[in-house]
Amino acid sequence: MKYVSTRGNAEPVDFVTASLMGLAPDGGLFSPETFPQVERPNATATYVETATRILSAFAGGSLPEQAIRDMCVRAYAPFAHQSVAPLTEVGPGRWMLELHHGPTLAFKDVAMRLIAQLYDHILGLRGERMTILCATSGDTGGAAASAFAGSKHVDMVILHPLNRVSPTQRLFMTATGADNIHNLALEGDFDGTQAILKQLLADDQFRRRTRLAAVNSINWTRVAAQSVYFAQAQAQLGRDRNIRFVVPTGNFGDALAGYVASRCGLLTNFDVVAAVNANDAMARLIAGLPLKKGATAATISPAMDIQLPSNFERLLFEASGRDGAAVANAYAQLANTGEAPLPKAAVAKLGSMGLSAERVSDHETIDEMKRTHAETGWIVCPHTAVGLAAARRSRHVDGPTVTLATAHAAKFPETVKQALGIDVGLPDRGREFTAKPEKFDTGPMSADFVRQRVDAIVSKAA
Ligand SMILES: *Cc1c(COP(=O)(O)O)cnc(C)c1O
Repeated sequence: MKYVSTRGNAEPVDFVTASLMGLAPDGGLFSPETFPQVERPNATATYVETATRILSAFAGGSLPEQAIRDMCVRAYAPFAHQSVAPLTEVGPGRWMLELHHGPTLAFKDVAMRLIAQLYDHILGLRGERMTILCATSGDTGGAAASAFAGSKHVDMVILHPLNRVSPTQRLFMTATGADNIHNLALEGDFDGTQAILKQLLADDQFRRRTRLAAVNSINWTRVAAQSVYFAQAQAQLGRDRNIRFVVPTGNFGDALAGYVASRCGLLTNFDVVAAVNANDAMARLIAGLPLKKGATAATISPAMDIQLPSNFERLLFEASGRDGAAVANAYAQLANTGEAPLPKAAVAKLGSMGLSAERVSDHETIDEMKRTHAETGWIVCPHTAVGLAAARRSRHVDGPTVTLATAHAAKFPETVKQALGIDVGLPDRGREFTAKPEKFDTGPMSADFVRQRVDAIVSKAA
């Protein structure tokens, strides 16, 4: 099983190499050469069983199945719910897939904990050390910090946009107390941090010197790990049901994982609604409009404040018939001029893949938090509310609608207070990684600034 670059100009690599590299050397994202066909789990399969089966298919012999099973067991042991991603009914035919039972209360834990296991396993075998750069819109950073805290093989440098993450999100990355976790708050938006990450990874000399890797949603292993809960939801709701998944979307990693599950034969149909806030890039791209770097609006669902969803590149690769040159062209033009039309073949295809989008304003998000609370008594986070509002609007008659609940409400206490007048406290598991004094530096949104800091951290560790 080999992984190719979406920009068509890199040597195919195996699963482990793709995971350790993060980004392909030509600046593209790794995608499997072909999608493995995976046998569907039955309704009683445990999360670890299904994860082992799917990840083994993607690993394609580059890791023994027993090692994968051990990693999955360790990754998911700290989850507060034994089924890891339980389904709960919010109304007739309307479900929530709860992805926030991990240590840092957002779905990012699901894939990040597995990546940390994988890195420790591989680097331990090789006796190597790496530097992991992570750009976060709020939740990835916390998940990465807690998953890698204390790792003997990894130094982690987390970039977050200064004052654009919630205070609780920030605590999860800056207050772990672990010496191997470093935080930089940069003056600008998430797209800026993501651009720096891509720039530094594409700098071959720097990447080799600092042994740099990335665990953002551009890392294939995350997408693979996230496809597991789509398969579990299908198995539990019934293999003959046509499920509509509504996915609160920012970088398009989670929604893409649904697409991947479907390509691997794990879903009955492919029907995914990308629910977006005022940053509606995915809605425009699905409609075939050009790639464009617009200004990011700050909303009450900050983890979705993204204008250039990086995983769209993988969808574009598929929609253009895996034409790496056309994808490379589009991204080169975007980098040069700030705007690029999508390849013609892709425009025709994007509208007919089973993917759609719904925009939800901050006002509608608050209304949905109130409505869900009034109807069910549940307090949902604003990102989940974007999804629930989109699900209500796009009501599906053919089968169940499943909205991904992407974070625990306690991560956004200010918004919950504003919407419902209720104070939500952190659950006990949220305190483990937020108890130490906060530790982070601030600086300009500049690749050179980050480069200097990474060099300093690496030379100190050596
Ligand atoms: C990351 C995140 C999202 C967006 O997910 P993508 O995979 O980036 O589309 C939505 N909600 C929450 C709470 C998140 O942390």
